[in-house]
Formats: sequence, structure tokens, C-alpha cells
Amino acid sequence: MRPLRICLAASELAPFAKTGGLADVLTGLGRWLGRKPPEGPGHDVRIFVPFYKRIAESKVKTEPLKAAQTVDVRFPQRTIRFGIRTGKLPQSDVPVHFVDCPELYNRAGLYTEDGDESLRFAMLCRAVLETCQRLQWAPDIVNCNDWHTALLPLYLRTTYAWDRLFAGTKTVLTIHNIGYQGSFPDSHLDTIGLGDQRAHLHHGELREGRFSFLKTGVLHSNRLSTVSKTYAKEIQTAEFGMGMDELLRTRSQDLVGIVNGVDYGDWNPANDPLIPHHFTADDPSGKQKMKAALLQRMQLPYDPRAPVFGVVSRLTAQKGFELFADSIPVFLQREDMRLCVLGSGEEKHEQYFQWLRDTWPKKVAIYRGFQEELAHWIEAGSDVFLMPSRFEPCGLNQMYSLRYGTPPVVRRTGGLADTVEPWDPATRTGTGFLFDQFSSHALAGALDWVFRNWRDQQGWKQLVKNGMSRDFSWDRQGPEYEALYRSLLR
Ligand code: ADP
Repeated sequence: MRPLRICLAASELAPFAKTGGLADVLTGLGRWLGRKPPEGPGHDVRIFVPFYKRIAESKVKTEPLKAAQTVDVRFPQRTIRFGIRTGKLPQSDVPVHFVDCPELYNRAGLYTEDGDESLRFAMLCRAVLETCQRLQWAPDIVNCNDWHTALLPLYLRTTYAWDRLFAGTKTVLTIHNIGYQGSFPDSHLDTIGLGDQRAHLHHGELREGRFSFLKTGVLHSNRLSTVSKTYAKEIQTAEFGMGMDELLRTRSQDLVGIVNGVDYGDWNPANDPLIPHHFTADDPSGKQKMKAALLQRMQLPYDPRAPVFGVVSRLTAQKGFELFADSIPVFLQREDMRLCVLGSGEEKHEQYFQWLRDTWPKKVAIYRGFQEELAHWIEAGSDVFLMPSRFEPCGLNQMYSLRYGTPPVVRRTGGLADTVEPWDPATRTGTGFLFDQFSSHALAGALDWVFRNWRDQQGWKQLVKNGMSRDFSWDRQGPEYEALYRSLLR
């Protein structure tokens, strides 16, 4: 079978611009798709992301792409100019086309609350297609990711429908988190050049004077995917669909769930360059050293018998930390344990963890902020990983923690349900601890169960070993994307 021309468009890409799992997934998928045979399928992959301020100011090596310099994109109210700077995705030959447009992307954060946020990402969609035209590169597949690139299928069907270059192009929209839909007042439609395309938009939204990038993408892409099988079912229900369930049910036949892969090139305790002590399932001795090193770094006393609980997360309502309020203090009071938290987000969560720290200064440490290295340390140095999410499209941290010998405690939802198997001490099978109800009581029950199992260190060793041997690599997950693409081209 011939290799495919695959265009990946997104708002994040590790290590250049990351706020969450999306960035890691794009990198892992891009690397895998582009890897040369016999190790990989050897597709012709190109990735498009904005040339954000933080990338422009970093030491990333890029070069101007000759074919796409000073490109003017006409929107009804103004013309915006961009150029492409091309770099390489690390550990691969995959080109990354950075959309260099300072007037839109030279800002402090990746995302903003500015009045032109819709234009920033409409521009990204158009810059992808304009660049393909200038390269005369006809993608077989354009895989859009989340709302930021979800207008691309509609632009292909309207503004760019005249161009034969795209005659064979099929689109996939991957939903990484349905909680973010890119919803704007319909007055923005004129700004982004879709004012005369109302017939193609979601009528229910328009009646309310709004439109959203994500719904538009769901209406117009050839296929839809999301990042786990359970989440694919969940988002078609009123409880999880965030107002999109009805629309998604109408496209049920076109929606697949593919669990995210893990890039073990970046996340492997055997050779992770970000941690000082290494270990494997067969020789886990380095993990004790990591535990001691982590506690020293977090300024907490080390005791091998006291389990260390780790959290690495965006601190938002999605992640379920409100369940801690009526559960964690009981255990901090009762048990000799440690809690190491790395996260940033909503003030009330940050304050709550700060209160825990102030109340149990010898047991709790919190680092407020985003710190890649510390994330690796916590995965490696903790004994248990906490992820009580209210909803979780896929989740990467639970898969990282499995590989790092840190059994996760998770709520049975979305990708957490698909990737963590309940530990059964009788058969010594399973990889972690699951609870069902979104309640402090249910979380407390799971934590109680953790402590009971922790006391049986022989059993615990097997639990750790089970988790470390699970394989969520892109070698396993990537072929599902490939099959999805090929099914569209048949
Ligand atoms: P989400 O995408 O919903 O944030 P995931 O579990 O899919 O959740 O992915 C989160 C990614 O972001 C992981 O790679 C995790 O290590 C990283 N991450 C989250 N918060 C932080 C933080 N404060 N510092 C460093 N890395 C973080």
C-alpha cells in the first residue's frame, strides 16, 4: 500500500507548545506515522501549529519555507499576512510547519481571552490550506484536533472547494476534550469570513446568536474520532456530551474511539533523562532512590513504609479534586503518608492544596505551576498516583504512572476505564484502583483499599510489575489511526 500524505493540524505540539495531553499526543502520533519502515509505516506527515511567542523566543531551529512567505489571507474586514517557518519534530524526520503571524500569535499564552481569539484559530485553519496550495502538496488526510482546527473541513468545502488540489482530501476531526468547543457570538462569523455560510452551520446554535468551531467541525468532517472507546460512548449521552450529544448521535456511525498512545521515548523510567535514578520492572531498585530523591526535593521526610501519593494535573473542575475535601484529610490524619502535588489552574483548588500543606507540613508538598521535569520525578518517585476525574477523555498520566511503577487510583470514566484494570489481590491481576461514583465517599473507599493492599508488600510488587508491563505505545495505538485513514480512502 502506498504511503499517505497526512496533514496534522493542532494548537499544541510537544515540546514546543504544551498545556496538556493534546501536545503529547500530536507528537507521538506524528512521530509514529512518519517513522520509516520497517519500524513504522513511513507516511508523508506534516504538522501545522502556530509560531507562538514562546516558540519564537526559544532556541528551536527553524527555517523560512521558501514557497510560503508573505502570504496574504483575505478576511472580510482585514487581510492578514503570514509566513511558514519549518522545523523538525524531535526524534523524527517529520517537518513541523510553524505558522508565523506575529499579529495573532505573538502573545503571552497559547490561548487568550482576546476579542480576536476566533480569528487566531480561523487563521490557523486557513494557513494550513494556503500552505498546501503553495507547496502543491495534496493531503490524502487532514486530521484536525479539537476546536482550534475544526473549521478546516468547512473551509475545504467552501472557500477552497474550487481547488482541484484538494479533490481527494478527506478530513478527520479528533475530539480530545469536548469541554472546549470554541463558542463565539455569531457576529464573529463576518470577521472570519463565514458570514455567508450560515446555512452550513448548526442552526440551533445560530438561533441563540452563537456558533462554535467544534460543532461546525462535527457537521463537516468526513470522520470523527475521540481518544478512548469509553469516551466515544460517553459523549453521546446528555451527562457527558456538553450539549453536543444529540448532534454526535446523528453521526454515531462515523465516530470511533482510539485510546491515545504513549511515547515511551519520552516517558520511560529505564532511561528517562529528566530523572536521576532509573529502573525497570525486573530491577525496580532505582524506584526507592527516586522516592527518596523526590521527598528530599519536596522537603518532606523519607520513610520507605509511608506511601507517597502523587498528583500532576491541571487543577480544573474536570479533574475531580473537589472529592479530596471530604476524603484526603481523613487519611492524612490517620495514616503515615505523603502527598506531592504539581499543578496549576483554578485558584480554589490551588488554595485547597495550599491549606492541606499548611495543615500537614510534614506530609504534603505542593508546587504551583507547570514543570515538565518535576512531572517526571513525581511519576517516578510516588507509590500511588491520584486521578479522580469527573470526566477524562483519555488521560495520559495514568498510563505514564503505570509505566513508572506507580499504580493509579482513578474514577471509572473515559480513558481511565479503558486503561486501568482493577487490582485483585486474590488472583494478583490488575494494575490499579478504580471507583465508580463521583463522590468523596467512593474515593475514600478506594483509598482505604489502597492502604490495605499497601500493607501486603509482596502483592504490591506484583501490582507494580503488572502495570509496568502494560504496553500503550504508539506501535499499538498508531495502526488504529492508520486504519481509520485508509477506510476513508477506499
Ligand atoms: P489533560 O490533557 O486533560 O491535561 P492528560 O493526562 O491527558 O490531561 O495530560 C496531561 C499532560 O500534561 C501530561 O503530560 C502531564 O504530565 C502534563 N501536565 C499537567 N499538568 C502539569 C504541570 N503542572 N506540570 C507539568 N506537566 C503537567
